[in-house]
Amino acid sequence: MPENSLRDFTNDHSALALNTATLGHNVEGQGAGWSPEQVIDACAGRGYGAITWWRREIDERAVEIGERTRAAGLEVCGLCRSPFLTGPLAPPSRRDVLDDFHASIDMAAELGAACLTICVGGVIEGSHSMRDSLKEVASIVAEVAPVASAANVRLALEPLNPVYGGNRSCLTTVRDAVDMIEAIDHPALALAIDVYHVWWDLSLGVELKCAGVGRIAGYHLCDWLADTSDVLLDRGMMGDGVADLKHIRHSVEAAGYNGFCEVEIFSAGNWWKRDPGEVLDICVERFRTVC
Ligand code: ZN
Repeated sequence: MPENSLRDFTNDHSALALNTATLGHNVEGQGAGWSPEQVIDACAGRGYGAITWWRREIDERAVEIGERTRAAGLEVCGLCRSPFLTGPLAPPSRRDVLDDFHASIDMAAELGAACLTICVGGVIEGSHSMRDSLKEVASIVAEVAPVASAANVRLALEPLNPVYGGNRSCLTTVRDAVDMIEAIDHPALALAIDVYHVWWDLSLGVELKCAGVGRIAGYHLCDWLADTSDVLLDRGMMGDGVADLKHIRHSVEAAGYNGFCEVEIFSAGNWWKRDPGEVLDICVERFRTVC
């Protein structure tokens, strides 16, 4: 696929989606604290195509918020996220992990979310082994995949930047994610590709081709700031960093993806401090010009 055959967003941002983490809604006490209703109205008014929610915003209101989102003309493109499955941030036992995993699938189904994002968790404490940790992740994901399938929810495995290998994700490359999906071989499994996690990977295009058509369930936008001050909470707005956004999107689209492009910016020191309306406006402008 030639690079100039990318979808053209210059005058059309209907493929733009908001991940509400961009407004700080993934962390208690961050951002302006808008209600889901305020977020829906602000996105609908600006012509966004979809929203990805975080579980802490939804609580007991999944059906209601899903319906409210669609009534405003938007889709629910995702829910963040499963529990961590392994490592220091995971629930204490496998039973606890499975219970919370099932609860997150139920919520995604009630919301009518197209997919549930999975951040797999870090290295199993004391194991000193990425390999053993990935084996445990695969075992849990394989057990849960039929449950997700029955609920009509896709599980989007998101490989995270290797800086999180210790605590948040022993799944650090697209290669390992594709290998895991192939090994488990269940149609509920897909990939989430996030600029923040893959921007450095020159083999992205090749790996995504190996994944096969229809295996990408989400594409997440932000930028990597050259002088980042915090690898978790200092993500950049598209165009402010060093990632080759058009080339990354080319790799994703060449693998058959034509779904929403979801802005997901964790930014405690900058974007979360701004007026959410201004943030949403700038996302639209950058999406049309640099993504
Ligand atoms: Zn992401």
